[in-house]
Amino acid sequence: TPFVVAVDGPSGSGKSSVSRAVARHLGAGYLDTGAMYRALTWWCLESGVDLGDADAVVAAARELPLAMGADPDEPGVHVGDVDVTEAIRSSQISGRVSTVATIPAVRSELQLQQRDLITVIGDELGSVVAEGRDITTVVAPDADVRLLLTASEDARLRRRTQELHGGTDAESVERTRDEVVRRDRDDSTVSSFLTAADGVSTLDTSDLTFEESVAAAVALVDA
Ligand code: C5P
Repeated sequence: TPFVVAVDGPSGSGKSSVSRAVARHLGAGYLDTGAMYRALTWWCLESGVDLGDADAVVAAARELPLAMGADPDEPGVHVGDVDVTEAIRSSQISGRVSTVATIPAVRSELQLQQRDLITVIGDELGSVVAEGRDITTVVAPDADVRLLLTASEDARLRRRTQELHGGTDAESVERTRDEVVRRDRDDSTVSSFLTAADGVSTLDTSDLTFEESVAAAVALVDA
């Protein structure tokens, strides 16, 4: 059976970059489950599905022609023939993805697809690092290593602002605050990624550099 590492955490906790570095370290495949919710949101907007119509969004989730790249150096996302890797990071998608992700039947459908992908990638590469909001608790509660990345709201805001705007001046921070705070609040109504479940190790990255966060995560994985 493949070696599975499950990583959860809020936006700006360093979850994606740390998960990719851990996957690189292990020679493992990588699965970004947030990208799946983003790709579904993109597909709904593209094909005119009303995000307020839960049944229509669930149907879209079942039919979504999604292909997730498992290479941690280049985790590409395709919907049909379209490379949506960049498009799903837009503020339009970030602003609407929680609407899609808080529909219970959408979650069960994508969770099913995520468990399949973890099995397929794990069988092919021997190990897989999967990250999201509910991987340690719902998608892969039996993972070999379960890790929750956290960081203070200030640290998370600073990181997201740097990512989105390339700087951390006061105006950019305020523009980011709305997105980050609201998205975490909406997401936390369906997943409990703000506190660690039983058996899940917490890594607070507030005062750690990227390299220090990776070293700490790798130490937990190698332990
Ligand atoms: O990780 P990322 O910020 O890209 O996730 C985008 C969105 O996908 C989150 O805001 C959340 O609504 C949803 N998500 C989720 N469960 C996961 C991963 C992401 O609900 N396991």
